[in-house]
Amino acid sequence: MAASVQSVAKVLWRLTPSVLHPLRIYQPCVQKLCPRVSVSPVFLQSHSFCQAASLHDEAAAQAAETLSRYKEKPWEYLESEEYIEKYGSSPVWTGYRRNHKGGIPPQKTRKTCIRGDKICGNPCPICRDVNIIIHPQNVKLLEQFISPYTGIIYDPTKTGVCMKQQKKLTEAIDASRDHGFLPFQIPYVDFTKEDYSNSHDAVGATPPPASLTAGESWYKWYGEITPDESEVTKVKRKYKAYLK
Ligand SMILES: [Zn+2]
Repeated sequence: MAASVQSVAKVLWRLTPSVLHPLRIYQPCVQKLCPRVSVSPVFLQSHSFCQAASLHDEAAAQAAETLSRYKEKPWEYLESEEYIEKYGSSPVWTGYRRNHKGGIPPQKTRKTCIRGDKICGNPCPICRDVNIIIHPQNVKLLEQFISPYTGIIYDPTKTGVCMKQQKKLTEAIDASRDHGFLPFQIPYVDFTKEDYSNSHDAVGATPPPASLTAGESWYKWYGEITPDESEVTKVKRKYKAYLK
């Protein structure tokens, strides 16, 4: 058993580094299976890979840190020097030009700029800057996508934002309005007109009709009708138990 494992270790020793990489994952398992067998050279080598990997991980972590610097509070980026240097006082989407075939721009922007780890050549104003994060509390960013005159969200063909980010934008703006960070317009209704007044008689107690006097029925013809006697007796017989 031990000999066979040793031969396996020899084979592993000859293997290329690319194959060794997955071995690093199974290292604890192999150690569990054969604790006596010395496979240290393999793991020494794999350790160097580990170091390289850890360095790579550190670089990735650093990159992630730079990415997520404004992740907690995305609205702080809009006030940072970095942002002012990049955009000044104009909205994020000013100066962005879409790429399209032919002279007439399409009626829609692209579906998304980033698919997996593939980024398109000309990402939209939101996708091109990692620090721009759409959040209901990122009011200054959301305001850049709303018309100050009408309160309507700008069309993506105007701003160049891809459909994915546009959807996120509209959702964030709706949430922001719900939470009271952004103003919204309610249609103004003038209640002074007659339709809405509650001072007329119909709202209070309804006055009796002028023609109606005590003892008289509401409809004049109601007193004039004489019911058929046989029908009355039939009904009376039917409801005898209930009549007092
Ligand atoms: Zn995009």
